[in-house]
Amino acid sequence: MLQEATIKRLEKGLLGVANGLIKIVSHIAGKAPDGNTVILWEIFSRQSNRQGATYFVGYKPATGEWRCTCPDFQKRGQPCKHILMCQVYHQQRVEV
Ligand SMILES: [Zn+2]
Repeated sequence: MLQEATIKRLEKGLLGVANGLIKIVSHIAGKAPDGNTVILWEIFSRQSNRQGATYFVGYKPATGEWRCTCPDFQKRGQPCKHILMCQVYHQQRVEV
């Protein structure tokens, strides 16, 4: 079950995408030094400040590990709105 803090972030993320404040700039798959596949999303977010900022979300399917370079994730270590957005996109991609 999702925590309330996580649901709030997902709502913020969905709203941000709908309003054009959060954009997925690019989406690539590559190999990490350990040989595992890494999927990387480049995200431009204008929600946190006016100039906007670029963050990177990384996902390792082998370990199920998600990371983001934004301050929210660095501070809490819990899925931020960028990670939640990428999870939504990633699942859509897999299922389609
Ligand atoms: Zn983030």
